Amino acid sequence: MFGIDCHTHTGISPDGVGTAGGLCRSAISQGLQALAITEHIELNRWFSEDHYNMTPRNKWEKFNYSEIMEKAMKQNSSIKDNYGSRIHIVSGLELGQPHADFGLAEAVMHDVRLDYVIASLHELHGKTDFYCLDYEKESVPALMEQYFKELLKICQWGKFDVLGHMTYPLRYIEGEHQIPVEIADYEEQIRACLKALVDHGCGLEINTSGLRQPYGKTFPTMEILKIYREFGGEMITIGSDAHRAEDVGKGVQEGIRMAAEAGFPYLCYFHEREPIYIKIV
Ligand SMILES: [Zn+2]
Ligand SMILES: [Zn+2]
Repeated sequence: MFGIDCHTHTGISPDGVGTAGGLCRSAISQGLQALAITEHIELNRWFSEDHYNMTPRNKWEKFNYSEIMEKAMKQNSSIKDNYGSRIHIVSGLELGQPHADFGLAEAVMHDVRLDYVIASLHELHGKTDFYCLDYEKESVPALMEQYFKELLKICQWGKFDVLGHMTYPLRYIEGEHQIPVEIADYEEQIRACLKALVDHGCGLEINTSGLRQPYGKTFPTMEILKIYREFGGEMITIGSDAHRAEDVGKGVQEGIRMAAEAGFPYLCYFHEREPIYIKIV
């Protein structure tokens, strides 16, 4: 089956389960052309708790991501040796909150074992992951505005390969908590982010995880894909954001259909931080 999955996690990520071998076997059995393993590296917790003078605010907050990075890179290298003859294995990472320290982010990304870097924004400055916020106490419009403001900073930095799951807060706000968001209110900010991505030669991910969650849509949706295309964007990846082997490849066919409908002739995956384009068939 034609398809790629450029966003997956194993048990090395604090919220994932299973092994990279399990992800690979699932991708190979579906006949996918490429699989990227992209463990979480939350850059704002690269060092120890002592360094930040902080303690975990919830059970998913881990520190010392420098150690997780080393585990992830060792895993990815060995998985390439074991499965690389059957499928293109992409050694990636999902770099959360790179704007916490752009200098550190660039140093982390210098690792020669890396093929691919997804930039993500899971938590706003001074707040926890959107997953853990109390939406009874938060102002949703203020959160959304702050989200796009911080996202713009990341897009304007532009040293990564692809922006991950744009509009991630909607997974919780609209999906889990059923609070409607008028996305048109943020159009100017969204356009600025997409323009910055195109100007820096960065790609956009169609993250299909929302299709199997209450949200029921991709991150981002078709309107946003079309604006990226309008601005001249060419680099589209598709990722299931699987946190277990059973979810590898889920929603990828829908993602491909959307990419084609938005006018993208190619998908891409990455090798040594360069895009490899494959024609949508
Ligand atoms: Zn993420
Ligand atoms: Zn992810």
